[in-house]
Amino acid sequence: MLSQKLEDALNGQSNAEFYSSYLYLSMSAYFQSRNLNGFAHWMRIQAQEELQHALKFYDYVHERGGTVTLTTVEQPPSTWESPLAAFENAYQHEQHVTSLINELYSLAEAERDRATMIFLDWFISEQVEEEASASDVVEKIKLIGDDTGSGLYMLDRELGERGPLTESSEAD
Ligand code: MG
Repeated sequence: MLSQKLEDALNGQSNAEFYSSYLYLSMSAYFQSRNLNGFAHWMRIQAQEELQHALKFYDYVHERGGTVTLTTVEQPPSTWESPLAAFENAYQHEQHVTSLINELYSLAEAERDRATMIFLDWFISEQVEEEASASDVVEKIKLIGDDTGSGLYMLDRELGERGPLTESSEAD
């Protein structure tokens, strides 16, 4: 059985993942409005991935006999100064999520809940990838210069090739 404290924290993390999904979908809409359809596609896939993260927490709380509580999801920003600003925001957000996962792990450790520690291992590895993929796009935009020139067009094409979610990134 999950402790109340851990149950609340897991529900809280589920909300944070729903917010991530909302944030990236909002970024997708922003890119769409700027006719950067490849950027928009990349963010839309990212939003789907975050929804799967939220559902992993949802399913885990149920699996452990806990109560899932869905709460209000904060409104994300709807516009950014530039594609670079949006991806820098995404990168900062993923660093924040990493710190939330680390705090959750410390709580599971303090509560001596080994099953939750093992469950969180997947997220710890996932955050390394999430930070790397956001940072990778930030660096690429910096390299080409954040304007509407041909570099941005080429990157838009590249991001548009992001494949659908793989089995490993979906909730079990
Ligand atoms: Mg996530």
